[in-house]
Formats: sequence, C-alpha cells, structure tokens
Amino acid sequence: MMAQYLEIKTAHPDALLFYRMGDFYELFFDDAVAAAAALDIALTKRGKHLGEDIAMCGVPVHSAEGYLLTLIRKGFRVAVCEQMEDPAEAKKRGAKSVVRREVVRLVTPGTLTEESLLDARRHNYLAAWAEVRGEGALAWADISTGELRVSPCPRVRLGPELARLAPREVLLSEAVEPELRAVVEDAGAALTALSRGSFDSTSGEDRLCRTWKVASFDAFGSFTRAEIAAMAGLVDWLDITQKGRTPLLRAPIREDAAAVMQIDAATRRNLELTHALSGGRAGSLLAAIDRTVTAAGGRLLERRLCAPSRDLGTIRARQAAVTALVEDGALTDTLRTLLREVPDMDRALSRLALDRGGPRDLAAIRDGLARAAEIAERLDRPDMPDLLAQAGVALTGHDTLTNALEAALVAEPPHLVRDGGFIAPGHDAELDEARTLRDEGRGVIAAMQAEFAESTGIGSLKIRHNNVLGYFIEVTATHAARMLAPPLSERFIHRQTTANAARFTTVELSELETRILNAGSRALEIEKRLFAGLVGDAVASAADISGAARALAELDHQTALAELARSGDWCRPRIDDSRAFVVEAGRHPVVEKALRAGGQGFIPNDCALSEGETPAIWLLTGPNMAGKSTFLRQNAVIALLAQMGAFVPAARAEIGIVSQLFSRVGAADDLARGRSTFMVEMVETAAILNQADDRALVILDEIGRGTATYDGLSIAWATLEHLHDANRCRALFATHYHELTRLADRLDGVTNATVTVREWEGEVIFLHEVRRGAADRSYGVQVAQLAGLPRAVVERARVVLDALEKGEAEGKKTALIDDLPLFSAAATTAPAPAPQGPSPLQERLDAVMPDELTPRTALDLVYELKALA
Ligand code: ADP
Repeated sequence: MMAQYLEIKTAHPDALLFYRMGDFYELFFDDAVAAAAALDIALTKRGKHLGEDIAMCGVPVHSAEGYLLTLIRKGFRVAVCEQMEDPAEAKKRGAKSVVRREVVRLVTPGTLTEESLLDARRHNYLAAWAEVRGEGALAWADISTGELRVSPCPRVRLGPELARLAPREVLLSEAVEPELRAVVEDAGAALTALSRGSFDSTSGEDRLCRTWKVASFDAFGSFTRAEIAAMAGLVDWLDITQKGRTPLLRAPIREDAAAVMQIDAATRRNLELTHALSGGRAGSLLAAIDRTVTAAGGRLLERRLCAPSRDLGTIRARQAAVTALVEDGALTDTLRTLLREVPDMDRALSRLALDRGGPRDLAAIRDGLARAAEIAERLDRPDMPDLLAQAGVALTGHDTLTNALEAALVAEPPHLVRDGGFIAPGHDAELDEARTLRDEGRGVIAAMQAEFAESTGIGSLKIRHNNVLGYFIEVTATHAARMLAPPLSERFIHRQTTANAARFTTVELSELETRILNAGSRALEIEKRLFAGLVGDAVASAADISGAARALAELDHQTALAELARSGDWCRPRIDDSRAFVVEAGRHPVVEKALRAGGQGFIPNDCALSEGETPAIWLLTGPNMAGKSTFLRQNAVIALLAQMGAFVPAARAEIGIVSQLFSRVGAADDLARGRSTFMVEMVETAAILNQADDRALVILDEIGRGTATYDGLSIAWATLEHLHDANRCRALFATHYHELTRLADRLDGVTNATVTVREWEGEVIFLHEVRRGAADRSYGVQVAQLAGLPRAVVERARVVLDALEKGEAEGKKTALIDDLPLFSAAATTAPAPAPQGPSPLQERLDAVMPDELTPRTALDLVYELKALA
C-alpha cells in the first residue's frame, strides 16, 4: 500500500494527497504534518518507512468538505484519491493485492463547485493570462456557473483587470517573472504556474475545439493568438484538475475592454466598491445597494458594479428596464416574490455536469424552471422594454424538462443519491415493486416480533437492527437463560450477549433480512439509474437552462435596482456622450445609510462641472470633517451607478459618459499599507496624470498631504495644473491648502467650492453644505478642540495661530516654527511656478513647417533641436 501511496504522491508533489482508506481520507508524511497543523487535528504514527515513523492524520469522508474548505482557504491544493474498486475485488486477485486507487480530482481555489465551498453571492473565477509576441490576453471562467470570457489585456492592464474580477486563482506560464507574481499577489489570488505547452496557441486551438466539440474555433468569432493561448491554458488546467471530466463551459464571450469604464485597483479600494476599507463586505457600496433576492442576481450585481458600461445603447436599455419596473411597482413586487423562490440553477447544473450533483440539484432545476414559466407570464405584455421582453422569452419553452423532473422527483428530495428515496412513487413500476417488497418486509418484521413474543412468553422481546448484526432478536438479561436453554434454544440461535441484553436470530429472520436487503438495494439501483437518465436530460438542455438562469439573474438585478430607486427616492440620470457632469441634491448611499442608522439626516449637495470642451475642475476647500471626502466620493459613485444602468441617489443628474474613473486619497489616510505611504501616493498620482484622458473623471482627495507643507502644496498645485492643461478631464480636487484657491483666477476651468461651517462661541458647527467660493480659513484648531485635545493644548495652538496669522499679515516670517501651515503673503503673491512662457525649443518648433522640409533639412533641424533641449 505504501508503494502505491508513494507512486501517487510523486505525481502530485504540490498538493496534499487525500488518500482514501475506507471511511477516511488519510494523509501521510509531510502532508500529514502540514494538514494536522492547518486543521488542528491529531497527528499520529503508523508503521515505518526507511526506518522512520510515518506521520499520519485523517479526516472522515462524510465531513471532508469542511476540512477541504479550510485547507483551500489556507492556500493548499488537495489531490483527492479514491478507491476505484470494492476491496473484495482486490482480495479476489490475491491476499496481498492492494485496492486500485486514482486521483479523481485536484481541488484548487479556482476550480471549486461544491455549495459549501463557495460563496453563493460571489463568482469564483479562475483566470489565465498569456502573452504572444508582446500581445497579452486574459481569459476567466467560473466553472461553478460555466461562464467563460476573454479579452485583450496588455501587461499593464493585468493589475486593474484582476482587481475588477477578483479571481481566486491565476494561471501563468512557467518561469513566472517577479513583476507578474507581484501583480497576482496584490490581487490576492493564488498563483499557479503551468508549463509553456499549456499556453501554446496552436495545439491550444485544437484543445479548445475538442472542449466545445466544434471543427473550427472560428465558430465563436475571431480571437487573437494571445486570446486563444489564454483560453487554452485555462482549459488545460481544468483538464488536469478535473481529471478528464469537462465542466460545462458556455461558448466563450469576447469582452471588449473599451466597452467598460476603466477603474483601477486603488480607485476600487478608495470608493469601497465591493469591500469596505476595513476589509469586509459590510460598509461597501455593494452591500448598501444590494436588494437582489437570488444568489445569481447578487453575482450579476457585483459584476455590473465592477464593470459599468461605456456604451450608450447598453446603458439606456438597462435604464429603460429599471424605469418600467419603477413605474409599475405592483409588477416589481410580484416578480420579487416569485424570484425569491428561484434556486441557483447555474451552480446546480455545473455540479450535475461534473458528476458531483445530487437529487437536490435536479430539484433546483425543476423548481427554477417552473418559477421561470410563471415569471414569463407576467412579462408577456406589449409594453415591456426590450431587456425584460427578451428575458421573458428565455424563460419559456422548458416545459418538457420541467414536466419530466416534476413527474420523476419527490417534492423535497434528499441531498445524496446514495440515500435513495428521491424518485416519486408511481413514476417507475419496477421501482415501486422493489420498494413494496422492501417495505412489506418491514411489516413482516413487526408481525414476526409479535409472534416471537407470544411463543416465548417474553412480552418485552424486540426485533432490532444495527449495522454489525443486521436484524436480531433482543431480550433483556433476565430472560437470557431461558432463551439459551431448550426448547427455545432449538429455534433461537445465540449471536451476542451484552451487559444488559442477549441477542438471537432465527432461520426465518435471516431469510427475511436477505429479502429486505435485496429489495432495498435493487430499489436503490433503480433510483440511481433513473437519476443518471435525468441528469443526462438536464445536461443535454444545459444551454437552455443557463439561458433561463441568466434571464432570471437579469430580472432579479433589474427589479432590485428598481426597488432600490423606489425606496431611496433615486432618479433616472440623463446619460449622453457630452462632457456634462451635473448632479442636483446628490447623496452618498453608504454614508447616508450609516447616518440614518444613527438617526441623522444626510445633507444633499449639488455638483456642476462646467460643460463644453474646457476642463472642468472643482477645487474643494474646507476644514477636516466638513464632508469633502464624502462629497467627492458621492459624485464618483453617482457616475458609476449611472453607467451601470441604475438610478442614482440625487434629485437630477446629467452625465456625459465617463471613460475612466480615478480616485486617490492623500497618504495620511492610508497608513495601514506597508510601503512608504508618500511614495505610494505619488506613484498613484503619477498613474493618473499619465493615463487620464479628457473623458476621465478624477477624484483627488488631499493629494500632497503625505509630505511637508511646502512640498505638499507645490505638488498639489502642479498636479492641479497638469489635470487642467494636459489631461483636460473632469475632476474634483479636495485640499486643505487654501493657497490653491488662487488658481481659480488663473485657470479657466477651475471653480472654487467649499464645504461650509459656522463658528459659534469659538466652536465650529459643520453644515456639510457645498457651495461655490473659497473657504475663509481652515478651522483646524476648532476641529482639534472638538476631537477632545486637552484644553491647554488648544489654547496654546490658538496663540501660535494668532502669532502666525499676524506675522503673515505684516509680511514677515515668524520664527516660531519651521514648517508653517500657511504660506507667507510674499509666497502666495509670487508668480505661479508653471506654466511659464514658451521655451526656445517650443518657439523653434512652432516655426517649423514639416511639409516644406527635405530629408536633409529635417536632419539638420533635429541637430538644432537637440542643441536647444
Ligand atoms: P472631510 O473629508 O472633509 O474630512 P468627510 O467627508 O470624511 O470629511 O466627512 C466627515 C463626516 O461628516 C462623515 O463621516 C459624515 O458623518 C459627515 N458628513 C459628511 N458629509 C455629510 C453630508 N452631506 N450630510 C451629513 N453628514 C455628512
């Protein structure tokens, strides 16, 4: 047995080997040590190998899923090795013969399908990235739902794409470069390196054709070499982990990266889209807006929130659906009531296809399709917007399968096939017959017990059953002697004596037992056969079922958005391809929710970045705690919700399509991250200044705060100018550097705005109202007082501040401290650092007429320009 173990283990060096022995999965050697520590279970010893004790631990098969989950969460992979024959078979081959065993599956984070191992409301993505001749592509699949997508993905986009999808496992070609390894680790995914062969695009194409059973992959559209390679790597890993069983994969969908709003990892974090900064889902935007009632609807909501559209047609179609549902509240309510009873058909189907499903998965499909038909009836109206009408169509036409499942299955089937009892009575005559025999046997047992009690005169005699003895007759110890003596001993054969009882059998009882057992196992055999047939039917209709599942998810998603809009008094934003950004009475859904929970109201605020071709930047000043960050984020969130197709928390909104969304917060808020925080802030700011196009929406909150005042102010200043002059995008820029407000006079596109506070008896009151104009002062000392700084410190701070302000007014530098919080008057009236007049290089270039240059003069010009630079 050890020889067999070692052979199998050698083939799976990177995984813990779950080696099946009877009712346990056993682990040996280092695997046992690692698993015992990770699972907190006992480590024991068994036999010796090369003179050393063999470490061992084990988990019971029936509770293995829970242990698997823990191991996967802790970053292990597990190879599950099963007994492939009955131990009795092996014995027939010879006393020393070992039961045949094989690894039937490699469990990795990206290839889970079990309900208990998955988060119902989240996708479990496996992603693969490949590069062919400098061109990159990313493929991703959720094998628990069968979805597979692919899109071009240059190396620099890998980080943002992984942040969007949050895959559990990422496949890369072996000899992984450190830079790529870091990107995958940053995304929190497990990295699996595959051989180069897995990503070979030529042999890969054949593999893909085999997977989808098509002659040519062109059937699915045209794909680049890199896209083929990424999908090939993914499919190969599925082959390796599923040991040849192919999960149901829907036809690959090519996703156009340019069709969605681009949002990088830092922006997702800052806006707390799917996770709050504290880590969990609670407190995130997703948690605040999620009104879906099905798991698949929840997954779709997260997908849409993570990838708002940039396509006017798509957005408007979704808006039309939400609008119709908002206007017809009764329909929305009915649909939501019906949807609540829709099970997760996608995941049930994928388990069935992988031979890991049970009767309950079939019932899920039966119930889901039955609800689908009911829902379709409600949508069958001439006034339905396209999206809902299309969903309605996908929900109909499944009657054959629904009827077959309804006829075959009991209402509430058990979880496991091996328990039997899931096929409805009356469905199969042969099964009914076997069951009757089995059940009658049980009746006969009762009669037999009565007869034995009477003939022995022992009223308390019982016929019982256990797994060791099967059926047996039991009397209490007091009657044992009489049973063991003639004449009773002639009929009753002694089996066992325990402390309190004696156990017997008779020839009739053994015969009856065999009959019952045979009938029982025959019934189970028949049920298993019928189950396989039904699974075959379901898998054959996989495309239709997943079409219906998708339509149900879409309906859940849209009705949930309608419900959200209704209950929160949200409005339908006007979306077009202008550069408008106008929000009236906007709110932040998460902050509003938190305030409401505390019995407080949220003050709505307007935002109007000017229209037209000029850049449109609001420079927002105001003291800490006034509500600057909230205002910034609420506008970003409104843009995002609008392009997702949802209504927005505002009285009115008009938004020209946003291509990219950037949000950064100055370093002081970001202390938890290990690297030099100021460095991180600058790297991230650089990314924005280098990437933002004129359709971008940029939210910068206290940029430059992470360094000394003058440095910080200068960086903020230059950043704002660059956004205005070079990026020419829409932006909201919050700062506590009042000096920046002067920029509004110099730059056309910059408007000052401030969050108002009122001072009353030396204390500040936050009004949380955003209005145009500059803040008069920073109120830092008052805020410090509010925060509970000792009175003496506050008083002293006031004195220092007075002195500084006085010094500033008189134009002299005070020597109180080196790093002043405010610029001196001289500094603020000095000319701005940039931009200056045109450089000689620029002037010379302006004078050049390229059409008039000959090759010779062009070369001379290059020399001349080099000299000027
Ligand atoms: P800042 O960025 O100016 O320091 P924040 O945006 O973090 O301020 O807001 C501070 C607190 O003020 C928030 O936690 C919230 O409770 C409250 N707040 C912010 N905006 C509003 C608003 N519009 N209405 C009501 N309360 C608000």
